[in-house]
Amino acid sequence: MSTSPAKPHRVVIVGAGFGGLETTYRLAGAPVEITLIDRRNHHLFQPLLYQVATASLATSEIAWPIRYLLRDRKEVTTLFANVNGVDAAGKRVLLDGGDSIPYDTLVLATGARHAYFGHDEWEPFAPGLKTLEDATTVRRRILVAFERAERETDPESRAALLTFVIIGAGPTGVELAGTIADLANDTLPRDFRHIDTRKARVVLIEAGSRVLAGFPDDLSAYALASLQSLGVEVVLGEPVTECTADGVVYGGKKLEARTIIWAAGVRASRAAEWLNAPADRASRLMVEPDLTVPGHPDIFAVGDTVSIAGPDGNPVPGIAPAAKQEGRYVAETIRARLDGRKLPPFRYKHSGSLAQIGKRLAVIDFGRIKLRGAIAWWIWGIAHIYFLIGLRNRLSVALSWLWIHARDQRTSRLITQGSSKVAS
Ligand SMILES: Cc1cc2nc3c(=O)[nH]c(=O)nc-3n(C[C@H](O)[C@H](O)[C@H](O)COP(=O)(O)OP(=O)(O)OC[C@H]3O[C@@H](n4cnc5c(N)ncnc54)[C@H](O)[C@@H]3O)c2cc1C
Repeated sequence: MSTSPAKPHRVVIVGAGFGGLETTYRLAGAPVEITLIDRRNHHLFQPLLYQVATASLATSEIAWPIRYLLRDRKEVTTLFANVNGVDAAGKRVLLDGGDSIPYDTLVLATGARHAYFGHDEWEPFAPGLKTLEDATTVRRRILVAFERAERETDPESRAALLTFVIIGAGPTGVELAGTIADLANDTLPRDFRHIDTRKARVVLIEAGSRVLAGFPDDLSAYALASLQSLGVEVVLGEPVTECTADGVVYGGKKLEARTIIWAAGVRASRAAEWLNAPADRASRLMVEPDLTVPGHPDIFAVGDTVSIAGPDGNPVPGIAPAAKQEGRYVAETIRARLDGRKLPPFRYKHSGSLAQIGKRLAVIDFGRIKLRGAIAWWIWGIAHIYFLIGLRNRLSVALSWLWIHARDQRTSRLITQGSSKVAS
């Protein structure tokens, strides 16, 4: 009598961001069959998106085709598809177009998107940064604003074209503001004949009382002073109350600006809705201590789409190392379950917070050790290069940064997605 071999355990992972990819990597060699589903064909290094938006790096330097990353993993099938729901009773993931994929264990790693605090109508005027398309949209708007200012004869319109507003002074807002200031002050001046790009206004507006609110007070104060030394106008304690094609309103005042960038808020993916599971105010799934969804021991969720308390009682931050730690824990739990073992609950370990301010300064908070200035910038740069995937990209990004550092040249200043007729 012949016995047919046992079917491998089917793991479906939705999202090939930091959390989903780490889960996939850490399951290498386990007796599982993996289906990794993402609606984009690339894994994106979001921490450097702002560098694409400010013409410092090219899109291909911070993104990699998922299929290519997993080409040697024969047990992994990559699907380019949008998930629109989960049939938990039937243990199937539902895709656009009506297909569904069966699972034994499901991992939801679908990340987060922008939140406009109930003002979704602002999005067309103030794009946020989440995808490569967002970054090239912002890059186009910044570069087109300078181009149009060069041809503009009316002083008020020209001033509005040369005013760049960034809403939200967390790390992304601070990094954008500092880099746009560098672009205007150092990279562009020699290229234009009718405008002085150094007169561009970069205005960073924050509803809270300080920039980089997640950092200690002294580093936050240092970041504020550094931004001001770059010429960035920082407005604190003023929520933006209106956003239009002409500019923003804050503190009852209108500021005319043709380029507005949103860096103020995020909302989790729809994973909690799919499962009708408890969620926090930012729609993040409230998971159990082992990162499973309440009532669904075969469904895990990781990364920006979940809410879980860290050892200090505060929510684990929505950052890449947290998503990776959670992805690693879930992979280990799946292995343990297959071996009949049980792991202790997930425990987050915070390794530090970093933010760049313009091309030569940064702040780093490692807890007991706090760094600022040029030394922090070098560590920031080395850390980011280390976390990029592949030697070619590491070399290419390092070279781009050295070029910016030494020559103030940003080589990715291409206006794509439209000619001068349609660019806006
Ligand atoms: C501009 C910016 C700057 C940042 N800077 C830093 C930083 O300096 N340091 C840091 O540590 N963190 C930073 N972060 C945060 C960090 O990128 C996130 O915490 C991290 O990406 C979370 O990983 P994740 O796997 O949860 O989600 P993501 O990396 O966002 O991946 C989610 C994946 O799910 C896919 N997906 C979503 N919905 C679906 C669906 N319905 N169907 C199929 N696929 C789907 C998406 O296409 C995506 O590939 C930054 C984020 C942004 C946006």
